[in-house]
Amino acid sequence: MRALTLRADFAPRDGYPLDERERREHRIQNGNMVWRHPQITLDEIAEPVPKPDEVIVQVAAVGICGSDMHMYEADAATGYMLYPGFVKTPNVLGHEFAGRVVSVGSAVRDLREGDLVSVEEIQWCGECIACRRGLVNHCENHEELGFTIPGAMAEYIACRARYCWKLDDVADRYGEDIALQLGAMVEPSGVSYQGLFNRNPSWLPGNHVLIFGAGPIGLTAQALAQVAGAGRLIMVDPSPSRRKIAAEMGATDLLTGSEKLDEAVLEITKGRGVDTVVEAAGVAELTIQKLEQCLAVNSTLVDIGLGERNPVMPIVTYKYRGVNYVGSLGHAGMGVFQNVIRLLANGRIDLRPIVSASLPLTEAKAAFQRLESREDAKILLLPNE
Ligand SMILES: [Zn+2]
Ligand SMILES: [Zn+2]
Repeated sequence: MRALTLRADFAPRDGYPLDERERREHRIQNGNMVWRHPQITLDEIAEPVPKPDEVIVQVAAVGICGSDMHMYEADAATGYMLYPGFVKTPNVLGHEFAGRVVSVGSAVRDLREGDLVSVEEIQWCGECIACRRGLVNHCENHEELGFTIPGAMAEYIACRARYCWKLDDVADRYGEDIALQLGAMVEPSGVSYQGLFNRNPSWLPGNHVLIFGAGPIGLTAQALAQVAGAGRLIMVDPSPSRRKIAAEMGATDLLTGSEKLDEAVLEITKGRGVDTVVEAAGVAELTIQKLEQCLAVNSTLVDIGLGERNPVMPIVTYKYRGVNYVGSLGHAGMGVFQNVIRLLANGRIDLRPIVSASLPLTEAKAAFQRLESREDAKILLLPNE
């Protein structure tokens, strides 16, 4: 079968302390510290065979994520991969996807051939202390589909049944083809849902919301915040085409990011400030770090975008105003996938405007190149077209 594989040179930077497992398995905690000269190729590889607790999913649609771009892109000066998180290479990319179950392992109870599913990217173990506390996003032994184990930019993928969520309700509303494309948006929407609702200690309907980054995470955060009762919804993004999508989806205010942010936000909110801020741009030093006077009392900064630098935060202001900072990682656990799928199925969130193109897997490389400009929102690859 065809699969899009990421390769890179194993070249630990001076002083990066490789641990035993990193040395043995090349499953690297900080990808940008070790992987150099990344490249992607479309290869012919063997089809997966299901283990007893796995199903084989024929991939219908898989999104290209900002993380995929950051694994594929290198720092111009040093050649090191931009992505700072867990990466193993060589590996098949792709972690935002949906497809049809075509074969079922002997121990799988609740899935049948023909079921349409979307699949969690974070493969939590269920046994470590974080998992046993219900914080499966922070699993100490996790694998990540498309980062550390083979992903979905391939015709077929093997997935453990415990990470699969059925899309039958969405298919009832839209038919199977659209359900499968929307199914590929459940993972990025889940990332936003996790930050906005599970991590945010102060979410209330009526909150004024400021979102940095009108890429797929920011736009799904927008859709979710709107359905959950956002007051004003301010989207900040330098790209005109991305701001246009945010406007079409109902953003009340648009900023480019080059404004004096505190002033602009105070003007929009008539001096009252914002209650919820979502960082979905991955450049905290240019986004949340700059906010101070526009943060309302008891507001929350939901930091999702994974950047390279640590921002310098005005913590004295945070103390006086009771500002909450929450880091939010991924999407797994707490029924996030289930809830996002229900909102897709009842039509309360419509993510179709976010999809700017659907292309066959043979055009994957061109699609990655096209996304370098960050003009598109989401490009879906269709590996079986
Ligand atoms: Zn992603
Ligand atoms: Zn665990």
